[in-house]
Order: sequence, then C-alpha cells, then structure tokens
Amino acid sequence: MQFIDLAAQYQHLKQRIDQRIQTVLDHGHYIMGPEVEELEQKLADYVGVKHCITCANGTDALQLAMMVLDVKAGDAVFCPTFTFFATAEVVAYAGATPVFVDSDERTFNICPSHLEQQIEKVIKEGKLKPKAIIAVDLFGLPANYPELEKIAAKYELKLIEDAAQGFGGEINGKRAGAFGDIATTSFFPAKPLGCYGDGGAVFTNNDEYAALFRSYRVHGKGKDKYDNVRIGINSRLDTLQAAVLLEKLADFPHELVKRNNLAALYNQQLKGDYQKPSIPQGFSSSWAQYTLTCIDRDMLMARCKEHGVPTMIYYGTCMHQQTAFNELGYTDADFPIASRLAKQVCSIPMHPYMTEQNAENIIRSVNHSLQA
Ligand SMILES: *Cc1c(COP(=O)(O)O)cnc(C)c1O
Repeated sequence: MQFIDLAAQYQHLKQRIDQRIQTVLDHGHYIMGPEVEELEQKLADYVGVKHCITCANGTDALQLAMMVLDVKAGDAVFCPTFTFFATAEVVAYAGATPVFVDSDERTFNICPSHLEQQIEKVIKEGKLKPKAIIAVDLFGLPANYPELEKIAAKYELKLIEDAAQGFGGEINGKRAGAFGDIATTSFFPAKPLGCYGDGGAVFTNNDEYAALFRSYRVHGKGKDKYDNVRIGINSRLDTLQAAVLLEKLADFPHELVKRNNLAALYNQQLKGDYQKPSIPQGFSSSWAQYTLTCIDRDMLMARCKEHGVPTMIYYGTCMHQQTAFNELGYTDADFPIASRLAKQVCSIPMHPYMTEQNAENIIRSVNHSLQA
C-alpha cells in the first residue's frame, strides 16, 4: 500500500498527460511555453483571484513574496512553529527574524490569540518592526483567515497565505489561494495538486505585486530578461510541468470529492482514544493529510506497519526546535500546544485513488492498535 498513490493517478490520467507532454516535445518551448500562461489563467480562475504567477517551487513562491513585500533585516515576520521548514526559512533567508506562534489546539493552525500576544511582545520590546504574518493551511485546512485578517488590519501587517497544502480548501466558498495580500502554493508531487517534479505559484489581486513577481522571477527583468531593473532570481515553472498540471487541474475537483469521501469514512469509522481532524463550520479541507494525535504514537505506528499500512509524522520537529533556529532562544514552554503535537501527530494514507479494501485495512489497523 502506498502512502500517496501517484502511480494510480497517472494510470487514470495517462492518455491525457502523455498527449500534453508530447505537445510540448513537438513545439519545443520548454521555458515559458504556452502551457505556462494557460495554466496561470486557469489557476487564477479556479482560485478566484486576478493574478497567478507560477514559479519553480513552493519555497521560491514564499521567497518571492518576501522580495515583493521588501521584507528585510530588522523586520519581524510571524509564522506558526508547527509547519514545514520553508515557511520560516524564507523569512530568515531574507535577513528578517521569524517570530514563532503556537498552534490552535483543535485545527493545528496558527493560533490567532497567541499571534496577537507575540505581536504585542515584539512591539513592547521595540527591537524589531512587525512586518508580516505567514499563515499556513496545515494538512489542507485553511487557517483562520477571518480572525487573521482582523489582526493584520489592526497592526497594519501584510498577510501571506502559505497554501502549499491548502490548495483546494475553502472558507465559506472562498478558495485557498485567495486569502491575504499574497498567497503561495507548491506543486511538489505529494501536495494536493502536484506535478512531476518541482513547481509553485503565487496568487494576488494586487496589480503592482503581480508585476513585481513577474519581474523578480526572471532576474528582475524590465522590458525583457536582458534589461534588469532590480536584483531577482531565476524561478520559472517548466513548460513540461505546466502541461502535466493542466491535466491534473482538470481532474482536481473530482479528486477533491474523493479525498473528502475518504476523510468522511475515516471520521465515521475510526474509533479510539485519540483526536481526529477538526474542521470548523464553514471551512473545508483539501485533505493534504489525514492526521491523528495519539498519546501512544509509537504503538499506533508499529501496529500499522505490521498490517502493511504506511504512516508518516508531519511534523516531529517544530521550528523553535530546529537547530537552524537555536539562536532565537525559544523553549518548548513557549509553545506548549505545538510541542505536544510534534510528539503526538501521525498521518495515515490519504489520496483520491484509495481502494475500498485498502481503506478497510487502514481503519482496521488503526482501530486495532488503539484498542490494544
Ligand atoms: C511543501 C511546503 C512548502 C514548500 O514547497 P516546495 O515546493 O517543496 O518548495 C512550503 N510550505 C509548506 C507548508 C509546505 O507544506
């Protein structure tokens, strides 16, 4: 059994994907070919924003956002401690200081009240200038944007949505990728919408930001890439990856239904002494992961392994626990909820091509391990 079955998805889409790839091989525009623009238009339409600009990966998407917002040394950027490293990495890479925030106990996303405490603390200390918030749609569930937008407005901070996992999620009909001043996503193969290599994108309704993104991703180009008006990077989405994504995006709404059906089955049938994912009223998840918290995680994982069910830990190390951020001087006591999650979370297989038999096996294994 696969944790995420990309081969089954390819078999389902094979003819269409193969044809799209052949088209690129025939026209030969491997960099910024017509598929890239077609994809950007379709992604913008799907998300419901004015501009989508693709790039080389989800980390670059975040880094480009730092560049566009002119985040620099002396700035504080607030982000959850319970996330993938890239979220905080780009802040430090820009020379700014990441200020970590604890998780909401039920959703595992950034906790708005702790965020406000951390902002107040930075203001009081007076050393750093509060600049932006990066919220993460962890495991597919959009962060609490209605609350985060209020906090961003109150303290005049820019809000960035890291929708690397959230693409496909919604809040009251508004799609992930449409929140904040800028949203970013990743097309890493295992993400809800993945390509066959690295890929990423940014989303914004702001025309000025969109123009800057288009410049920064191609060496700070002016009228063309040999006219360089600012220091940029080289971060484009390959035409071949855009071709793959066009076919995957066409099937994505259908896949989302299947992910939600599997999540509903898990919600209904998994029974034991652990916490299941909690989706607030009006929110929907893209189910990038289905994650349980379990006091005896080792036992759960061992039993699943015995039954041939793969499990993964996302994430076993919070940002404040990472060696690279040692110098920030945080301790687990600063983030009690996230520190507990890092010890207790366990994700079980989740993808749209799960067979009924495998789903039953997973449910049986998890229930068995938790009753023993
Ligand atoms: C995957 C991921 C990223 C980075 O995406 P890449 O395409 O791998 O660079 C950033 N943030 C989060 C929350 C992610 O899950």
